[in-house]
Amino acid sequence: MSAATPHQRGPAGDRDVVVAAPAISGNRISVSLRPGRVAARYFREREIRVEYRDVDLDGVDPAVAVVPALGVVIPVALACGGSVHVPEVDAVFADGAAGIAKTLQAMYPHFPQQRFQLTGARRPAASASDPDRAAMLYSGGVDSVTTLLRHRPAVDCVVTVWGADVELGNAGLWDRLSAIVAAAPVRPGTRHVVARSNLREALDELRLNRDFDRGFASTNWWGAVQHGLALTSLVAPVAVRLGLGRVLVSSTHSAGFRVPWGSNPELDNLVRWSGGRVEHDGFELERQDKLAHVVAPWLARGDKLALAVCYQLDRDGTGVNCGRCEKCLRTISGLLAAHVDPHDAGLPFDAGSLTSWRSRLERGEAHFGQNELFMWQGIQQALRGGDKLFEVHGSAAYLSWLKDFDVASLATGPAAPAAAVGDLPAWRYLAVRQARRVPYPVRRRLRRWITRTG
Ligand SMILES: [Zn+2]
Repeated sequence: MSAATPHQRGPAGDRDVVVAAPAISGNRISVSLRPGRVAARYFREREIRVEYRDVDLDGVDPAVAVVPALGVVIPVALACGGSVHVPEVDAVFADGAAGIAKTLQAMYPHFPQQRFQLTGARRPAASASDPDRAAMLYSGGVDSVTTLLRHRPAVDCVVTVWGADVELGNAGLWDRLSAIVAAAPVRPGTRHVVARSNLREALDELRLNRDFDRGFASTNWWGAVQHGLALTSLVAPVAVRLGLGRVLVSSTHSAGFRVPWGSNPELDNLVRWSGGRVEHDGFELERQDKLAHVVAPWLARGDKLALAVCYQLDRDGTGVNCGRCEKCLRTISGLLAAHVDPHDAGLPFDAGSLTSWRSRLERGEAHFGQNELFMWQGIQQALRGGDKLFEVHGSAAYLSWLKDFDVASLATGPAAPAAAVGDLPAWRYLAVRQARRVPYPVRRRLRRWITRTG
């Protein structure tokens, strides 16, 4: 490894982002940014901040402490056709970053294809991590629960990020999710770390979507590009501080259903630093496999579990799962197909909710994207391959019907790129931008209404 080879290229260009040395204080890291004229369009703040609850960062090498900021900045600079300049960076992370850039460029040919550079002094950061012990990103969903249960003996720390799926301003939702995370099926003594960060607020995601989402397969900047690198990078300082050599991130998709997505084995496994590496977990398992082979056996032993799966998480209320949205019903159906009572995993349902879901499907009122369709078909396969249908609250009759229902008739079309914001008329795009100034709960509803209408 070539140590200390700064690639100084003179003054930074319009498309570049200059990243300052990290300021580390107690449990906080803040990193100032200076984006060039073009790159600046995509930043709403000039600083990336992260605060790790109950973790003193004393002794974390600045070459690693800068990694969370780089996880936010690199994809944006790449999409601008620019580079990232930093005073010094961990040499192992920098090597991986070159591969990450190439992988993202291959996934998204509409990004500029010139060579990306992360310039700055490269040096191996001091590290004394155990290569077998792990931290993991945890949200309480089926994917992260599966990873936790599979690797439970090795997981010493679960990290939940506030500022990713839950906005920093939404303390009510955060409180409800915190209860789920606190009930994670960890070994006694496992640490829970909350990482609170402006990693999303710092970016103008709406503008990134406007300019780039034409090339994404039915998702947005955060899902298609940013989330894997940004979230895994955020864990690096914690892993180093706690001496953990592995950071696990759960797969969302599986080998059987591949779409370009911002977290996959090729990308995530390139995120590494001196003494630590990310492992994308569970890609070989389809969602129904996770429920049937990991979640169901855990519950069958009488162990506890609280899942947080709902698409309606931001609604008013006290529970975490509504039991009525597509994702709740998909998870309920998958658990029933795996002979598990969904109540045992915190998913409310009864005979009435199964009947009304069935009616919605029969009337064609629900629609599935290709990924959802793939998972519903996985449930049907499990039902067809099984023997007796599970009976609780009238579930056997529902499952018997679901087994042969034509779910493909509700699919929304081939997995073609579907721009959500990039194709909006200008007035509607500007209305969405204006909506950002409205208080949080109103804004969220307004944004949904505007992007769906028309
Ligand atoms: Zn729901």
